[in-house]
Amino acid sequence: MSLPLVSSAPRPDSTDAFIALEDRYGASNYKPLDVVLARGEGVYVWDVEGRRYLDCLSSYSAVNQGHCHPKILAALAEQAAKLTITSRAFRNDQLPLFYEELCALTRSHKVLPMNSGAEAVETALKVSRKWGYEVKGVPDGQAEIVVCNNNFHGRTLAIVGFSTDQASRHGFGPFAPGFKVVPFGDAEALEHAIGPNTVAFLVEPIQGEGGVIVPPPGYMRKARELCTHHRVVLILDEIQTGLGRTGTLLAEEHEGIEADLTLIGKALSGGFYPVSAVLSNKEVMDVLKPGEHGSTFGGNPLACAVARAAMRVLVEEGMIENAARMGAYLQAGLRSIRSNIVKEIRGRGLMVAVELHAQAGGARRACEALMRRGVLCKETHGNTLRIMPPLIVTQAQIDEALEQFRAVLA
Ligand SMILES: *Cc1c(COP(=O)(O)O)cnc(C)c1O
Repeated sequence: MSLPLVSSAPRPDSTDAFIALEDRYGASNYKPLDVVLARGEGVYVWDVEGRRYLDCLSSYSAVNQGHCHPKILAALAEQAAKLTITSRAFRNDQLPLFYEELCALTRSHKVLPMNSGAEAVETALKVSRKWGYEVKGVPDGQAEIVVCNNNFHGRTLAIVGFSTDQASRHGFGPFAPGFKVVPFGDAEALEHAIGPNTVAFLVEPIQGEGGVIVPPPGYMRKARELCTHHRVVLILDEIQTGLGRTGTLLAEEHEGIEADLTLIGKALSGGFYPVSAVLSNKEVMDVLKPGEHGSTFGGNPLACAVARAAMRVLVEEGMIENAARMGAYLQAGLRSIRSNIVKEIRGRGLMVAVELHAQAGGARRACEALMRRGVLCKETHGNTLRIMPPLIVTQAQIDEALEQFRAVLA
């Protein structure tokens, strides 16, 4: 069998031609902005027509380190030429180093490597249920997990089953039982929801896809206290907030707490490769025994080498401190824009959102206007613009972006 000769068709050479081809064959589960990107370097990306854009989304925080970081690229190329995958049937010489460095960086005891963020979430749900039955003594099949309204934890069936976003869940049931939804930011509601069979509370420190919703001060600390008091596993989904985005390595540091399970992904590979991980204290992770969970690609040497380099540059190049500094500068700059369409500016570090008034014509329109001005942002929930440049962004580059935000918002 040979491939049909599609190569005889002319290669698309314009934005419109690429879009037409993509729309003809691709599932339409996304509605991207009509820009076709071909190259990236640092905070900038270029489209197929050679136009340059300042990336203010960072692939939802997967490229915190900037596009095509040369040191991560070198690690990827070097490892790809040596050994890419062994499966976990055998050991490899990158995984132990990845474990050690990740545990040292995050002060964790145990790591379970996966690939996508959703897989890390699923892993945490499985592990906490097992811990509930084997350690807490919850009767078999009765474990309950509390989650928050307006959450985003990924796209698998179990996860969309407890989503409160209709577009994410409608038409995909029946769903897994055992989840209870409480309002985000409301510690009292959490306390009421916890019962004798509650094994875990899964929460984002700042809701990302939900529109960069920062909970009231003290919420995370109270949640930590409640979980400790009632023997409930606190699972922090830091897939978007983690690895420097909010100006600290993990967002939990803003309230001086430690989760029992922490989920990271996205920037763990600097955008080169899907790498995620569940970080755990010893007690919870130790319930897993050989054969009870796994992933063919999880923990492969290529992923580990890439993640090691991605962590190293994040720390050694001061990206976390830069996120704190530039985040404050960006937020101050946005607040200085006199606009009658802006309802609220919120965020932490370089995780920032601008919510527009409902009458403003929608955030999509603003994103399209920004795109024409060389700045790429993505709307969320109709009226909110998310602004999350790579953590290497400079003050001059933020000024460059602010000039365009001013033009579009004022
Ligand atoms: C992106 C994201 C996920 C899902 O990650 P995938 O790699 O897309 O599966 C889960 N939780 C949060 C908070 C995220 O932002």
